[in-house]
Amino acid sequence: SKSSPPIVIGDDFEGYSLESFRITPNLSKYLQSVLIPGGFIQDRIERLACDIATDLGNEPFTALCVLKGGYLFFNNLLEKIRQLHRYRCLDDPELQDDEAQQIKVEFIRLKSYENEKSTNQIQVIGLESLESLRGRNVLIVEDIIDTGRTMVKLLKLLEQYEPRTIRVTSLLVKRTPLSNGYMPKYTGFSIPNKFIVGCNMDYNEYFRDLNHLCVMNEYGKQKYSL
Ligand code: 5GP
Repeated sequence: SKSSPPIVIGDDFEGYSLESFRITPNLSKYLQSVLIPGGFIQDRIERLACDIATDLGNEPFTALCVLKGGYLFFNNLLEKIRQLHRYRCLDDPELQDDEAQQIKVEFIRLKSYENEKSTNQIQVIGLESLESLRGRNVLIVEDIIDTGRTMVKLLKLLEQYEPRTIRVTSLLVKRTPLSNGYMPKYTGFSIPNKFIVGCNMDYNEYFRDLNHLCVMNEYGKQKYSL
C-alpha cells in the first residue's frame, strides 16, 4: 500500500536558531543551527509507525536495528508500533492467537563513516543475528540514507538468509548527487546535503546526546575530526 510522503526540508532552509532551544553550551558551540527539532521528529515517527503497522497487519515480524545511529529511532518507532498493536489486539478477538503480532528484535552494527565522508569499506558486526531472519518478515530500521551504499550492501547480504519479506524504514534520506538512487519504502524526512548530528547520530562518536537534529559548524568539524 501507499506510505505517507516524507517531510521535505528545503535546500534554502537555514535551520532554527540554536538560542530558541535548550542546548548545553558544550554542544552548541560546535553547532550551526537546529535542522529538525526533537518534538517534530516524534510526530513524524508516529505516522511512520502507523504506515508500517497498517502494511504488516496481522503478520509477525522481526525489526532489525542498524546500530549505532539507528537505535533511538528504532526504540521510538517500535514503542509506537507496539502501542498500535496492543489496541488492535484488545479490540479484535481474531488477533489473539500466539503468533499474531509477535515482534522480535535483532541488532546489527555497520560502520562506514569517517569524519563526514562515507568510506567505501563497510564493516558488519553481528552477522549471527542475520541467521534468525530466515523465513521472517523483516523491517530494517536505519537512521539515515546518504549515498545508499550501506543499505544496498545490507540488502544483498540479507538476501542470502532468505527472509520472507524485507521492508526498509529510514528516519532521514539525504538529497545528494552521490546517491545511488536507493529509496526506502518508509522515509521520515528528506533533508539537504549537510552533515547532521543529534538524536543519537554522531560525528566520530560525539554529539549523540543532542535531542534535536542539528547542523555542525566548521569549528566543530575540525575539533572532532579524526
Ligand atoms: P551511506 O552508505 O548511505 O552513504 O551512509 C549511511 C550511513 O552513513 C548512515 O547509516 C550513517 O551512519 C552515516 N551517515 C550518513 N550521513 C550522515 C550524517 O549526515 N550524519 C551522521 N551522523 N551520519 C551519517
